[in-house]
Amino acid sequence: MSTNAELFRNAQAVIPGGVDSPVRAYGSVGGTPSFIDHAKGARLWDAEGREFVDLVCSWGPMLLGHADARVVEAVQEAAARGLSFGAPTSAETALAEAVRARVPLAEKVRFVSTGTEATMTAIRLARGATGRDYIVKFAGNYHGHSDGLLSEAGSGVATGGLPSSAGVPAGVAALTIVLPYNDVAALRECFAARGAEIAGVIVEGAAANMGVVAPRGEFLTEIARLCHESGALMIQDEVLTGFRVSPAGWWGLSTGRWPREAQEDSAKDQAIEESAATSRANLKLGFEPPTGRAAQNEGVVFGADWSPDLFTFGKVVGGGMPLAALGGRAELMDQLAPLGPVYQAGTLSGNPLSCAAGLATLAAADEAVYAAVDAAADTIAGALDAALNAEGVPHFIGRAGSLFSVFFSEAPVVDYAGAKAQETWRFAPMFWEFHRQGVMIAPSVFEAWFTSAALWQDDSAMNQVLDAVPAACKAAA
Ligand code: PMP
Repeated sequence: MSTNAELFRNAQAVIPGGVDSPVRAYGSVGGTPSFIDHAKGARLWDAEGREFVDLVCSWGPMLLGHADARVVEAVQEAAARGLSFGAPTSAETALAEAVRARVPLAEKVRFVSTGTEATMTAIRLARGATGRDYIVKFAGNYHGHSDGLLSEAGSGVATGGLPSSAGVPAGVAALTIVLPYNDVAALRECFAARGAEIAGVIVEGAAANMGVVAPRGEFLTEIARLCHESGALMIQDEVLTGFRVSPAGWWGLSTGRWPREAQEDSAKDQAIEESAATSRANLKLGFEPPTGRAAQNEGVVFGADWSPDLFTFGKVVGGGMPLAALGGRAELMDQLAPLGPVYQAGTLSGNPLSCAAGLATLAAADEAVYAAVDAAADTIAGALDAALNAEGVPHFIGRAGSLFSVFFSEAPVVDYAGAKAQETWRFAPMFWEFHRQGVMIAPSVFEAWFTSAALWQDDSAMNQVLDAVPAACKAAA
């Protein structure tokens, strides 16, 4: 059996840094990444046969858990009929209908293979539709690695401490206006000065690539208002939040389109609550888990309505296969080729295996799944908060629906400056103590923690995480 160290050395000889996406190289925590052999439910196994409870969930897609039988079966069935045709299939239509059923503002949907392509295309569409060149993004938000969107980006750009990337022409970067996140005054000022030149504003559903920073107060509704007043388009990037924080993503959760309290099927709600209570009784909780959405999402206004013009989706919508999408009003989406002048294409776009995985995932992702994912997040975030308090470690738990992350800072974090100002040195010891105890978290303080329905359904996995929390928090002290 090869060790992770041997596999990493071999990989480094033929792959830059040994990885195909930078954060996987463990640069900010040091040491050797675990090469994964296989995964099932809430657990991963590495090449050395070590078992981990997984709080990365492939950085979001694995909402149900790994190798869910319904998803695997759907992919196997699709694979047996051919891997790719470069021709339309009815699975694409079915998946577009499933997306629109959850997010009705996505009247038409175009499928691509990565979140990067989805946001890149949404921006081209915004420019094409408005005839304007400037794009507004927010510091610490990540929208993939296309040229115009890497300025002050989150995720690996934040982990690497990079302002942007080499190889982005200055002329391209100059067309991106970067504003502080959650800063309504800066937004108004920008629109007052340059509103007529702005093609679109792109914003994460809830920021989750600088750690988790929920949009506060009227931030998103004000983006929509200013865009619509000045003829710009609002692009809501739900690649990470879409179909994860609610059936209709952050937009659905915060507008109250999918409020669990208001579900008509109250018997089902009661069953979900009872199952959560039973699970909680089986867990080794040394604290009272917080309840109530508002308490867990400081500063967020729930129930305010707004309408983005374009949405981008990824991760969960492809069920772990390469698939992403953009969607919006029919009249706008029809400006894409072949109907309109804005070009976009892809050999593997709408791949039949990816569509099968996405369809099976969305079909399985019912209210009980979202309740499970939320409950696991509440429990783990609550345990972290209690243990960090016990150790006297200054911290703030960023929350946006089921997404959370730990900031090692006293003050609530509302923007990228706050996220960067934390005591980042505390993270690596915490990461490695979790790792030692068989709990896999993302190897960067600037990433979200992800839960799955499989995790909440697996008491031993939940308890393994809860058992690991006190020592991991002590390591951060
Ligand atoms: N937008 C957001 C909000 C993301 O979180 C990500 C990836 N983490 C992307 C876009 C890019 O997606 P991909 O990695 O599939 O290109």
